[in-house]
Amino acid sequence: MRTVVAAKPGSMRTCRYRPRASVRVHPTTEVLRRVTGFFRSLGFEVTDGPEIESDFYNFTALNIPLDHPAREMQDTVYVLEPDILLRTHTSPVEIHTMEERELPLRVVVPGKAYRYEDVNPTNNYMFFQYEGLAVDRGIHMGHLRWVLGEFLDYLFGPEVERRFRAKYYPQVEPGLGVDILCRFCSGSGCAICKHKGWVEILGAGMVHPNVLTSVGINWYEYSGFAFGMGLDRLVMGATGISDIRELYGPRMSYIPEV
Ligand SMILES: [Zn+2]
Repeated sequence: MRTVVAAKPGSMRTCRYRPRASVRVHPTTEVLRRVTGFFRSLGFEVTDGPEIESDFYNFTALNIPLDHPAREMQDTVYVLEPDILLRTHTSPVEIHTMEERELPLRVVVPGKAYRYEDVNPTNNYMFFQYEGLAVDRGIHMGHLRWVLGEFLDYLFGPEVERRFRAKYYPQVEPGLGVDILCRFCSGSGCAICKHKGWVEILGAGMVHPNVLTSVGINWYEYSGFAFGMGLDRLVMGATGISDIRELYGPRMSYIPEV
């Protein structure tokens, strides 16, 4: 509701607003701002990149060559076969960033990604990812472990149990999967955690030498870490929304009035 008052000649007053009682940002925006606030406090800059990509940036430069089985796991939507596609993850921005910026660098990349998925409560053809990258001399796994530990403390609290386990991702070596204890069943197993007791929050690892080489960085001199997470999953965990389609559909009833 907005009330406009005509300005009187010579008056500084031109209009006044009556704020609406029920305005609130989208839950995804809210979580995105919280996460970005944390990484900014550690000196990470926010960057972005194109959602329509070439095969090179989406796959090849990220150590996923033409015959790699990881391509099968990311059902791709092609704009123009075989080279132009909708990015299947936000990782291509890592490549653009390393090509365009001076080292050292620390960036985070919030953005949308697309896959040819059956739409259901846990999968959508479009989803939000949140990527991070740091490249410098002497970066090692200890730095990554510390940053992720601080991030989990910030987001879930230091009392929430977490685990770091070895996991394979083509663009990193070694790779990590990071889980927290399921908050719905405290580890005993339920439908939310698919009866594992743990919920995977993000994937991470040390940037693979092949990825650094693909952008002309000497991996004997520089190293880096990268991490990526599904932002929608964080939003659903924070808000109790159990159907990802609610985040992108027109039903806004889950947004509480303030
Ligand atoms: Zn559970």
